[in-house]
Amino acid sequence: MRILIISDVHANLPALQRVLEDAGEVDEVWSLGDIVGYGPNPRECVEIVRTIAPSISIIGNHDWAAIGRLSLEDFNPVARFASYWTTMQLGAEHLRYLESLPNRMIDQDWTVVHGSPRHPIWEYVYNARIAALNFPLFDTRVCFVGHTHVQLYIREEEAMANVTPRHTVDRESIDLSEGRFIINPGSVGQPRDGDNRAAFAIYEPKRNRLTFRRVAYPIEETQEQMREQGLPESLINRLAHGI
Ligand code: ZN
Repeated sequence: MRILIISDVHANLPALQRVLEDAGEVDEVWSLGDIVGYGPNPRECVEIVRTIAPSISIIGNHDWAAIGRLSLEDFNPVARFASYWTTMQLGAEHLRYLESLPNRMIDQDWTVVHGSPRHPIWEYVYNARIAALNFPLFDTRVCFVGHTHVQLYIREEEAMANVTPRHTVDRESIDLSEGRFIINPGSVGQPRDGDNRAAFAIYEPKRNRLTFRRVAYPIEETQEQMREQGLPESLINRLAHGI
């Protein structure tokens, strides 16, 4: 069983397409939220994710903003403009789909949220301290999170010992059979860990294995579409730098 885990697609169709090609044959796709916001292709990305991730799909803060569940006052002016633009692109059925997404899903082995177990929509798990505060708040072996756009994993004992999470490398694989983990597959559509390639992960529950992946995508194609749509220059530029 191979599961493709994606997060923070952020309406970047060229990146999503490249990830789906590169992941190869998978049995399931899980989405950890923020399908839309920032990028130029919100309709296409909602339609694809709705089709490929029919069972495990979580809402993120940008999806919430797009359906008007979040005051745009909480966003900076650039994100606010992009969010308003996003809402204007979506049809009733896209909005209904986003509206239907839960903010947390739990199975025997895993928990899935966009932000953190403590605050499923909003909290950023970016260091050992925040992770340590969250480990007691879920019972499963693994918790998958998105939201920071930084690909990483944090083991429970290391979080408790305040060990700084390491950066992952492409094709790095971890054995999930020992210990408990918080895992972030990184962002498909707007990586912020200094690597501009789209990030994702392959989860093999029967083998207790998770593999981190990166793949280059035609960034200029996304940037050109953003320019055509009049999206803010700072959002266009950051894609090239992966920040
Ligand atoms: Zn995001």
